[in-house]
Amino acid sequence: MAKIGINIATGSLQQSEMIVGIDLGTTNSLVAIIHPETKLPTALKEFDGSSIVPSVVHFDSFGNVEVGEQAKPFLESDPQNTIFSAKRLMGKSHQDIRAHQDFFAYKIIDDNRDSLVKVQVGSTFYSPIDLSSYILAELKKRAEHILKTPVTKAVITVPAYFNDTQRQATRDAGKLAGLDVLRIINEPTAASLAYGLGMDPSEEKTIAVYDLGGGTFDISILKISNGLFEVLSTNGDTYLGGDDLDRAIIQYWMKQMGLDDLEDHKLLKQQLRLAAEKAKIVLSTQEFFETEFAGEKISITRQIFETLIEPIVQNTMDCCARAMKDAGLQIADINTVLMVGGSTRVPLVKKSVATFFNQEVNDSVNPDEVVALGAAVQADILAGNNQSMLLLDITPLSLGIETMGGLMDVLLPRNAKIPTQAARQYTTQKDAQTGINIAVYQGERDLVKDNRPLGAFTLKGIPSMPAGLPKVEVRFLINADGILQVSAKELRSGVSQTVDIKPQYGLTDEEVEQRLLDSLTNAKADISMRALVEARTEGEQMLSVTEKFMMKNAALLTKDEISLTASAMQALQLAITMEDKHLIQAKTEELNDISRPFAERVMDQAISGALKGKGIEDKDLQ
Ligand code: AMP
Repeated sequence: MAKIGINIATGSLQQSEMIVGIDLGTTNSLVAIIHPETKLPTALKEFDGSSIVPSVVHFDSFGNVEVGEQAKPFLESDPQNTIFSAKRLMGKSHQDIRAHQDFFAYKIIDDNRDSLVKVQVGSTFYSPIDLSSYILAELKKRAEHILKTPVTKAVITVPAYFNDTQRQATRDAGKLAGLDVLRIINEPTAASLAYGLGMDPSEEKTIAVYDLGGGTFDISILKISNGLFEVLSTNGDTYLGGDDLDRAIIQYWMKQMGLDDLEDHKLLKQQLRLAAEKAKIVLSTQEFFETEFAGEKISITRQIFETLIEPIVQNTMDCCARAMKDAGLQIADINTVLMVGGSTRVPLVKKSVATFFNQEVNDSVNPDEVVALGAAVQADILAGNNQSMLLLDITPLSLGIETMGGLMDVLLPRNAKIPTQAARQYTTQKDAQTGINIAVYQGERDLVKDNRPLGAFTLKGIPSMPAGLPKVEVRFLINADGILQVSAKELRSGVSQTVDIKPQYGLTDEEVEQRLLDSLTNAKADISMRALVEARTEGEQMLSVTEKFMMKNAALLTKDEISLTASAMQALQLAITMEDKHLIQAKTEELNDISRPFAERVMDQAISGALKGKGIEDKDLQ
């Protein structure tokens, strides 16, 4: 229910504050609300009917900032000072975007102060968060202008593949723009909400959301039942979108014109980019496009365009196949396919998706608005106006910590539903160990060195105890935004520590996908490596326990027994050095067989000693 308030100063009636839904897109952004009268999700439109704000920011030499449609012409006339596709830089290091640097007409720098990129305009440096905040501030201003009420609360969408850093960066951008970001949700999840799916509690459906926007591609498989949205799997590529289709046309034209490089002609490059986008849009409804560029006529047919973009479209279909495999589903299990993002207007894209899923695709909601409309539906749920719906999202990669020998111990498997939490107990390796290092990783490989480090901290102040006695519980908590909180607590003493994991920089764009592929191709090697590490750890523990035993109890053993044990220890040490799993296991077993009877004998003597009233201490048995 919308509440009505009274402004005490003016005595006028005020509408209660609205929570808006924002699609902060790579190419375009927009705001939507649930219309107070029709109760339908509605994109906010200016008087001229435009709802879309191009995600473009222009800085002039006087320090003025223009955003959106006003900034767009400067893409051609002042490319160095006009920033587009800033979303692609969110949470990225210079290393991450080096391969794609050509795409940006403005200056991206690595200022060596932190690992995240900055954009240099004149003598000022802007972070991608700053740039996104300009776009969000413009959206806020527009919304306030249209709604005639302050707008301070929002739900913002991000691609499903956005990692923690990128989600946090989006949230920070909102904060900078004066918005309280109540929730960050995945774009495909928002899209399914916009299609009104799940409103009928008796409805059971499995849907695929194919989202090809300006700069990102996501495929999500969702299950809807009892008004509950559950994401079964996600896949995609944060560097694949309409921009790449434009680039295919640019390259084709450059070849046609015999141009190798437009690096030194930023203005021409920008002009060609805009012409290519125009060609692509025209070819969505027509068979032929022609224009003039630098005094020459350039043209392209739909057939040639389709040949050029076929590999790009095929890439997205490969992602679809992987998402289906992860969800454990067959094509026939998919009831509905939703099309999202401006690039799904390309006929070849529609046709390929329909062929893959063996059904007509559903594109009845405007693909440019659908994500923002869904964000508005989520905002309405958060405002308490629609309590019958709940949202579940998932983690795209497994999360875990490093254990002995550099092994990855997964606490939250990939595709775990969020919000979620998991806890596991660990212990110390050394006597009187007062600190334990918790290193958090993301990825599918068995060794942490092959996964992505998210952060690390040390739980300090554990009271001095023998190895193996402290009980350290490590807990992972992922909140509804997909942000990870890790805590560690020593249960005997209550010593605890909690950290929000905010990694230094994000994954490179193909990396999430590459990591999944790697985990499949390296599965066999990983398993044998894990087995070796486990055998080695066990062997080392056996050596350390035996050594301690020998030092304490040498007096109770014969000379032969001592030399037999020493040579078995040497043999095990050698096997460990040779990294031979079978040999390590055999030698561990041998040492165990030799030392066990001695240990039992020493134990018997200690017990009989105790019976005689001498008393024993636990540690003497070790
Ligand atoms: P989005 O990120 O969803 O706003 O999508 C923007 C992308 O859609 C840009 O790459 C646009 O060039 C592209 N786009 C918009 N309209 C069309 C169209 N009619 N045909 C093909 N691509 C389009």
